[in-house]
Amino acid sequence: MAEVILKEVGKTYPNGFNAIPAVDLHIADGEFIVLVGPSGCGKSTLLRMVAGLESITSGELTINGTVMNKKEPADRDIAMVFQNYALYPHMTVFNNMAYGLKNRGVDKATILKKVNSVGDMLGLEELLDRKPKQLSGGQRQRVAMGRAMVRDPQVFLFDEPLSNLDAKLRVQMRVEIRQLQRKLGTTTLYVTHDQVEAMTLADRLVVLNKGNAEQIGTPLELYERP
Ligand code: ADP
Ligand code: ADP
Repeated sequence: MAEVILKEVGKTYPNGFNAIPAVDLHIADGEFIVLVGPSGCGKSTLLRMVAGLESITSGELTINGTVMNKKEPADRDIAMVFQNYALYPHMTVFNNMAYGLKNRGVDKATILKKVNSVGDMLGLEELLDRKPKQLSGGQRQRVAMGRAMVRDPQVFLFDEPLSNLDAKLRVQMRVEIRQLQRKLGTTTLYVTHDQVEAMTLADRLVVLNKGNAEQIGTPLELYERP
C-alpha cells in the first residue's frame, strides 16, 4: 500500500538552475503514473527526487503520510529500474537479483524462495546461472525488473527502461511491465519521452514542460478529446 503525495515539490540545482519550480501530484495506491515530456523537461530530476537520489529543495514528498524529504534512498522502500539496467556484470542473474536482499541481511532460504519465484514470474528460471553479458537485451531488462521486484517495494520507479530495446521488444516489454504491475498492485511512477508508450501504460499522465506539470489526466482526457 503506498499513496505518494508531492506537495509543491521543487528543485533548484547548486548552479542556481530551477529545473522544477513546484509540482503538485497525488498518486493513489496502486496507480500507474507516467511522466512524459521532451528531453530536458525535468522528468529524471523529478523521479530522482522521489528515489532520494537527488535532494528536494522545496516542497514536500510524503509516502503514506510520512515525510520522505530527508530519508536516504535505502530507507524509502522504493525500487528503481534504470535504462542502462545497472546490473553487476561479474554476478550471475541469481546474485544480481539477490544482492539487495543479502545486503539487508535477509536469510538464505527466504532469498532463494523469493529470487526463484520472481525469476519464474519473469521467465528467467533457465537463466539464473548466467552472467548479464550472456543475455539478450530483453532478458537483461527482465533481470533489472527482478532486482527491483524481489524487494517488494512500496513504489516502483522506471526511468526510460525500454529505450535501449528494439521496437518490437519494446512493445512486448511494455505489455509485460503493465501486467506485472497490475498483478502486484505496486504504485508506479514511469518516465518516458515516448508518447505512445505513455498512453499505453498510464492510468494517468503528467505532461512536464520546463519543469511544470502542464497537464495531468487519463490518456483519454489528454489525447482523445475532439
Ligand atoms: P529530462 O529527464 O526530462 O531529460 P532532466 O531532469 O534530466 O530532464 O533535466 C532537467 C533540466 O535540469 C535540464 O535543463 C538539465 O540540463 C538540468 N539539469 C540536470 N541535472 C543538472 C545538474 N546537476 N545541474 C544543473 N542542471 C541540471
Ligand atoms: P539495497 O538494495 O539493500 O538498498 P544495494 O547495495 O543494492 O542495497 O544498493 C545501494 C544503494 O542503491 C542503496 O541506496 C539502494 O537504495 C539503492 N538501490 C539499489 N538497487 C536499487 C533499485 N533497484 N532501485 C532503487 N535504488 C536502488
